Amino acid sequence: MRAVTVTPGVPDSLRLTDDWPEPAAEEGAILVEALAVGVCGTDQEIIEGHYGEAPPGQQQLVLGHESLGRVLEDPSGTLRPGDLVAGVVRHPDPVPCPNCAVDEWDMCRNGQYTEHGIKGLPGFARDRWRVQPKFAVGLDPVLAPVGMLLEPASVVAKAWDHIERIGNRAEWKPQTALVTGAGPIGLLAALLATQRELSVHVLDRATTGPKPDLVRALGATYHTGTVDELDLDPDVVVECTGAPVVVLDAMCKVGPAGIVCLTGVSSGGRTIDFDAGALNRALVLENNVVFGSVNANRRHWNQAADALARADQSWLNSLITRRVPVREYAQAYTPTGEDIKVVLDFAA
Ligand SMILES: [Zn+2]
Repeated sequence: MRAVTVTPGVPDSLRLTDDWPEPAAEEGAILVEALAVGVCGTDQEIIEGHYGEAPPGQQQLVLGHESLGRVLEDPSGTLRPGDLVAGVVRHPDPVPCPNCAVDEWDMCRNGQYTEHGIKGLPGFARDRWRVQPKFAVGLDPVLAPVGMLLEPASVVAKAWDHIERIGNRAEWKPQTALVTGAGPIGLLAALLATQRELSVHVLDRATTGPKPDLVRALGATYHTGTVDELDLDPDVVVECTGAPVVVLDAMCKVGPAGIVCLTGVSSGGRTIDFDAGALNRALVLENNVVFGSVNANRRHWNQAADALARADQSWLNSLITRRVPVREYAQAYTPTGEDIKVVLDFAA
């Protein structure tokens, strides 16, 4: 069968293979036919050789962690043939650490977790894959064209889950949310904010392209320029750029008792002049919280599946700016700068 693979650590080793072996029975009871995988920045880093780890004893890693498939067979009876399904990306570490021991693998403490298509587990960019019932998330049939957005949506669902847990340390009546960055994560973070009936503001550099209209279609307000210039006092900031200046401005901008959730991974190495004492003073005197958030556990995947099913499906569809047939796989992994989400289509 077909599979899109890389040799981790070897730049430009991206290949489409026609004779990849069928998924091993040990991978899980549920056999799935791939419909699509989403492409993201992590895939690019793996392709460039900066990241990624093949399964033990293997040279190649199947790419793809943003999955969507259709169940072919499930002897466990969890799902029915024909059901839409996505596979949870991260699996708990084998030790396990205290968090993985209770299936909070998104909070793994020892870093020995594994991840499909990233770290030690084969990805979903292959014609068929298997999954254990515990890691199989069933999707509403309406999500057939867009269900590969479930993985990025799960990341955002976790961010909001933790924002709310932190907010509830005291009386919590948030009204205004600011999202920095209007890529897939930022737009999905804004979607979940509007579902919470917050007044939502999204800031991005783009002045053209689809982002301004996608934000307005949510009933949110689109901004360009700097965070500092905004005439806002947000209760929550979801930071999705990882750009150092934006991150620091977000920490300074958040209102009293505010929460800043950082989701962007910065590359590091760039330094900027910055008054750390003033930031400390602002955080202390306003009871503000700044926290990082990554990945998602099963609870968040379920929350994300509900959130996507409730969303305007045509809006979700417009996040997918290119659908590339598998045989033209290299195009899917070539960024254009115009894309929001690119999808590799296994059904085409
Ligand atoms: Zn762990």
